[in-house]
Amino acid sequence: CGIFAYLNFNVKKERRYILQVLFNGLRRLEYRGYDSAGIAIDSDNNSSSSSENSVVCPPPLVFRREGNIESLVKSVYHEVAETDLNLEESFSIHAGIAHTRWATHGEPSPRNSHPQSSDDGNEFLVVHNGVITNYEVLKETLVRHGFTFESETDTEVIPKLAKFVFDKATEGGDRTVTFSQVVLEVMRHLEGAYALIFKSRHYPNELIACKRGSPLVLGVKELTEDASNGSAFHDDKFVSKNGNPKELFLSSDANALVEHTKKVLVIEDGEVVHLKDGGVSILKFDNDKEKHGNSLARPAS
Ligand code: GLU
Repeated sequence: CGIFAYLNFNVKKERRYILQVLFNGLRRLEYRGYDSAGIAIDSDNNSSSSSENSVVCPPPLVFRREGNIESLVKSVYHEVAETDLNLEESFSIHAGIAHTRWATHGEPSPRNSHPQSSDDGNEFLVVHNGVITNYEVLKETLVRHGFTFESETDTEVIPKLAKFVFDKATEGGDRTVTFSQVVLEVMRHLEGAYALIFKSRHYPNELIACKRGSPLVLGVKELTEDASNGSAFHDDKFVSKNGNPKELFLSSDANALVEHTKKVLVIEDGEVVHLKDGGVSILKFDNDKEKHGNSLARPAS
């Protein structure tokens, strides 16, 4: 029912602060109603450049809980206390995602909560608002390709589809496929309504968001004087430049961004927002391409 993401770039933030931003984002979405909640954060410092992603970073950590946000918060801090996760560990780049769920497919349970995952190693994680109407067909196809499903949600096909597309694109050892190319290919197969945020082990420090029919906003908090004057404009919209320290936010609801920034951009249907290297690029999903090849339709080999 609500989605939220926070990415800090070139500005040191402790894990404790990152968790607080994610939890506060969820609290701001609470009034819309929900039955479960979850987040994904980085387990480690992925400070190497995300363009050199030949080495996969450690799996992101996922926390999911049925019930209210405060019980999620409690269980996260409990787990942190039980493990060697350090709340003071600081990240100069970190990408976190969060979700409040109002179940449409599958009862409220930790397993059906978001983020939904592609596999045990959390190669691709997705938070989703909306309903994927053709999920059964996609699920059947993915099962034929060897995927096993953990949840009853319509959402789970999305991260699995992303992994399928990524694995196909990289099977010959070619690692040039970008995160946005993967997501554009995934969108080509989705029917229904959605706002989505993707996080991936293969693309540390990057996030992708896209939407069709469900709301999505982007917030940018520039942290240097010159950067606040220097935001680039593109098609009447600001698109933040690479390099400068900043905090970036994505949400289904501008309410969750007001405490952070006034620079809020409403994302339109078919737009794909790519947060990478401190820059924001907005691509347009090309409907015409929908008519061309359907790689998923190929029989399993
Ligand atoms: N259809 C998805 C599910 O049932 C997302 C529901 C929502 O928007 O919260 O998991």
